[in-house]
Amino acid sequence: MSLDEQQLRIEGIYLQNDRGEYMQRVKLAGGVLSLAQARVLAELSGRFGSGTLHLSTRGSVEFHNLPAADLPEVFNGLAAVGLFSRGACGGAVRGIYCSSSFGPGFSRTQVMLRHFLHHFSGNPHFEGLPKKFKIAFEAGYERSRHLIQDLALVLVEEDGENSRYDVWTAGGLGREPQAGFLYASRVPEADLLPLAESIVDVYRAWGEKGRRLKHLLNAVGEDELRSRIEERRKNKQPVRFSDAFSKALLPDGRHQRLRVNIFAGELPTQKLGELVELGSQHGCHWLLVTPDQNIELLVAGLGDVLEQALSCAGFDVEGSENGALRVCPGRSECRMGLCATRDLGQRIINEFGQQAAVRSLAISGCRNSCAQPQLAEFGILASKLKRDDNRRFPLFDLYRREGDGLGQRFATELTEDELFEKLGAFLQE
Ligand code: SF4
Repeated sequence: MSLDEQQLRIEGIYLQNDRGEYMQRVKLAGGVLSLAQARVLAELSGRFGSGTLHLSTRGSVEFHNLPAADLPEVFNGLAAVGLFSRGACGGAVRGIYCSSSFGPGFSRTQVMLRHFLHHFSGNPHFEGLPKKFKIAFEAGYERSRHLIQDLALVLVEEDGENSRYDVWTAGGLGREPQAGFLYASRVPEADLLPLAESIVDVYRAWGEKGRRLKHLLNAVGEDELRSRIEERRKNKQPVRFSDAFSKALLPDGRHQRLRVNIFAGELPTQKLGELVELGSQHGCHWLLVTPDQNIELLVAGLGDVLEQALSCAGFDVEGSENGALRVCPGRSECRMGLCATRDLGQRIINEFGQQAAVRSLAISGCRNSCAQPQLAEFGILASKLKRDDNRRFPLFDLYRREGDGLGQRFATELTEDELFEKLGAFLQE
């Protein structure tokens, strides 16, 4: 089958390895899946690909190792339950996510997020961008993920359609991490879409091919960027999303959240199938892929019973509540990867046990920073391959985050043993 790689990218699909296998990324609205959608994901994953779904740090789901011949069937299977991947890769508005999980404020941000996702996805006005454009709605500042978006909308006052948001822009990680800046405070909800469109318009008009919005900011300066955005914005009218009834996923607050820890975001098909079956037996209607690559279940009523059933089935339920280990696919599934990230994560857990499990750690297999190491307490990034006589091995940069901004590079080009020595010293502090 002859496939156009650029066209596939905009459909959320890219070539994964030299064997001609593909990755397909599925956009989820803020990481949320209905139980029916999760069931279909499990069925498709059982028939196609590696038999494991990867949970991304942006609340998306990825199929790996798909032969070209299987792509249409996976695509159609997803569409049958309203799942899509248009714009999940390439120069487009990517999946819109929310790191606030099923917590306070999440319902309002979810409603807005779904409106935005439908507006920007598959819309030719917002495709063909110089590079990816990442949007996030956040229910607060707790996780600091507003810093790493092209556009972040942070709920600061919740009052239905009259809610207000702080708007941040021009942040991003990748090879040149840069925190976004506060563009405007307490923006009324009706002004969000015109402002978002204006920022995307400016990026499309003046962004350099292959470079994120932050590079345009660096090239023209904040004043000029603002002036171009406001020029576009002045002709746009406010947009109110008037809904006939509440579309919030948490309408009455009587739901319980259960977090199931998934090591490195690698969810075997069989385990997803078990999660779906147990959830359906115990009043769970929604699942959520968290930005820490775990699964949360939203349960009406029988949460304690479900928690027990999940534990009996071998799931790690709320096992390390305060910690998080984010791991990108790394060398085993990404052509850019310089190290086996999951093996490294497993070695950290094996060597440091609970000391590591309660901390926030992130491991990226290359400088692209997909695991967001600059937002973890300790971030590890494979920065280069070193050769000696007989072998090649990765060297690592170590980041440490102590304040409100991005983590800073603390040590560079460490061998794996040097990395463990430094990490061990930090974890004992
Ligand atoms: S950080 Fe690098 S190795 Fe990891 S998924 Fe991203 S591009 Fe691949």
